[in-house]
Amino acid sequence: MLGLMQNWPMTVDKVIDHARDWHGGREVVSRSVEGPIVRTTYAQIHERAKRLSNALKALGVEQGDRVATLAWNTGRHIEAWYGIMGIGAVCHTLNPRLFAEQLCYIINHAEDRIIFTDLTFVPILKANLANIPTVKHIVVMTDEAGMKGVDLPGALCFETLIAQHGADCAWGGFDENSAAALCYTSGTTGHPKGVLYSHRSNFLHTLVTMGVDVLGISARDVVLPVVPMFHANAWGLALSCPAAGAKLVMPGQKLDGASVHELLETEGVTFSAAVPTVWLMLLTHLRETKGQLTTLKRVVIGGSAVPEAIVRGFGDEYGVDVTHAWGMTETSPLGTQATPNAAIAEMSEEAQLRFKLKQGRPPIMIHLKLENDAGDDLPHDGATFGKLKVRGPFVAAGYFRGDGGDILDDQGFFDTGDVATLDEHGYMQITDRAKDVIKSGGEWISTIEIENIAMGHPKAANAAVIGAYHPKWDERPLLLVQLKPGQDGTKDEFLAFLEGKIAKWWTPDDVVFVDDIPLGATGKIDKKLIRERMKDYVLPTAGAKVGA
Ligand code: ADP
Repeated sequence: MLGLMQNWPMTVDKVIDHARDWHGGREVVSRSVEGPIVRTTYAQIHERAKRLSNALKALGVEQGDRVATLAWNTGRHIEAWYGIMGIGAVCHTLNPRLFAEQLCYIINHAEDRIIFTDLTFVPILKANLANIPTVKHIVVMTDEAGMKGVDLPGALCFETLIAQHGADCAWGGFDENSAAALCYTSGTTGHPKGVLYSHRSNFLHTLVTMGVDVLGISARDVVLPVVPMFHANAWGLALSCPAAGAKLVMPGQKLDGASVHELLETEGVTFSAAVPTVWLMLLTHLRETKGQLTTLKRVVIGGSAVPEAIVRGFGDEYGVDVTHAWGMTETSPLGTQATPNAAIAEMSEEAQLRFKLKQGRPPIMIHLKLENDAGDDLPHDGATFGKLKVRGPFVAAGYFRGDGGDILDDQGFFDTGDVATLDEHGYMQITDRAKDVIKSGGEWISTIEIENIAMGHPKAANAAVIGAYHPKWDERPLLLVQLKPGQDGTKDEFLAFLEGKIAKWWTPDDVVFVDDIPLGATGKIDKKLIRERMKDYVLPTAGAKVGA
C-alpha cells in the first residue's frame, strides 16, 4: 500500500524559491572581486538567477549539459549555481588552485559547454583556450566596466546577460534524481574523478546539515563561508543558508586574517566554516593586532584535522566554540561532526576536549563502519584502527563516466581511503589517510596525531610527519617542522615536547627543519610532494644493523 502524501520532487530550485518567498529581504553581502562590498538579497538573487537561466537557454544549454564555474565565493557565484541547476543543467565547480593541466583535463572530461569565471581567472582560461575545445562560451562575472580590462575575444559579460533576459523562466519539473552538480576530487593517485550530485542528494544533505547537531544553521545566523564553493561545495552552505533564511557574507578572493576579520566584525557574523589553515591565519592576525570577535559564536573546522591549539585559542581567548567536522567530496561533503552527545555534554571541559578533537559522529543518513583488510568488521572501542567505510543517500555510488570502476562493496559501502577508530560514543577519529599511515614493524602509526601535537609547540608554524625507510621496521616516522619566523629550534626540544603525549615507539626517529610545508589545492598538507622532496633522505637510525 502506498502512502497518500504529495509528490514534491526535491529539486534545489525549491531552496531558493523558499528563500525568496519567506526570507526575501535577507541580505547576501559579498566582497566583490572588483573590490567594493556589494549587497543584495535572496529575492534579488532569485530574480537574477532566473534571468541567467534564460540566458543559458538562449546560449543553447539543455538539461544535463555541464556548465562550469571558476569563481570565488560571491553573490554572483550563487546566482550562477541556481541559474544553472534550476533548468536541470549540471553545475561543475572548478578549483582554480589546480594546475592548468589538471583543470583542462577536468573541463574536457566533463565536456563543459560554458564557463563562468571571475576576472581573476581570465588569464588562466585565455592561456588554455586551445586545450578545452568543448567550451563554447566564457562568461566573465563582472559588469561592462569590468569587461574593459578583459583581454579575451568573445567573452560574455555576466551583468549584460542578466540585463538582456527576462526573469520569466520555469525551473524544476524534472526527476529529483537528475544530476545537479559535479565536483572532482583532487585525485592523489591517477586523474581527478568526478562526483556527480543529484538534486535529491543535495536536498537531503541540506536538510541534514541544517540540524542543530550538525551545522545548526538558523534564520537568525549570519554565516561567512570561508570554505570555497569550489571545494566540496562550501560544505553545502550556499544551499543550507537560503533554506534557513540565514544572512550570507561571501568573502570573495580575500581570505587572509585581516580581511576575514574585517567582514566578521562589520557584518555581525555568528557562524563560519573553513579549513584549519584559514583559522590559524585568523588567530595569528587577532593576536598580533589585539583584535576582538564581538559577534562570532561558532566555527566549524574540517578538511584536515583540527589542532588542539586552535580549539583552545578560539575557546579560551575569544569565547568562540570550535566544532570539528569530517567529510569528503564523495560525501557531499559532511560525514561527521563532533557536537557533544548527552553523556559528553556532562563531562568536564577537559574531558570534552578529548572528543572535540575527534572528527565526530555521523548524523542521520550517514552510516559508518570499520573494516580490516580481510573485510571483517572491527570493534568500536576507540583504539582499533581500520578502513573507514560509509553508506548513505548523499554518498557517491560511482564516479562520473564510470572512472575507478565499481566503488561500493557488496553491502553498498564506499571505502573512504581513510583509516580511523570509532569509540563507544560513536565518535570517529581519523588516524590517517590509508596511503599516509606509517607501517612500522607491522603496526600502524598515525601521522596526523603526531603532527597535531607538534603543531602545538610554541615555535612551530606548521608540521608534517611522513614515513621514512628503515631497514628493520620498514618505516619510521620523520617529523618535518616549519618554524615561526625568527625562531630557532632543535630536534631534542621537539622530541621532548612529544614525550608523554604519544606512545614511545611512535617517537619520530628524526626532526628536520624546513622552509615550508607545502599545501595542496584543497588546503591540505601535500604529503606526496613532501615525500618527493625527501626521497633522498636517510634516517640517522637507518644505518642500524638489521635486528639490532
Ligand atoms: P581532496 O582534498 O582529496 O580533493 P576532499 O576535500 O574530498 O578531497 O578530502 C577528503 C579527505 O580529507 C578525507 O578523506 C580525509 O582524509 C580528509 N579530511 C577531511 N576532513 C578531515 C578532518 N576533519 N580531519 C582529518 N582529515 C580530514
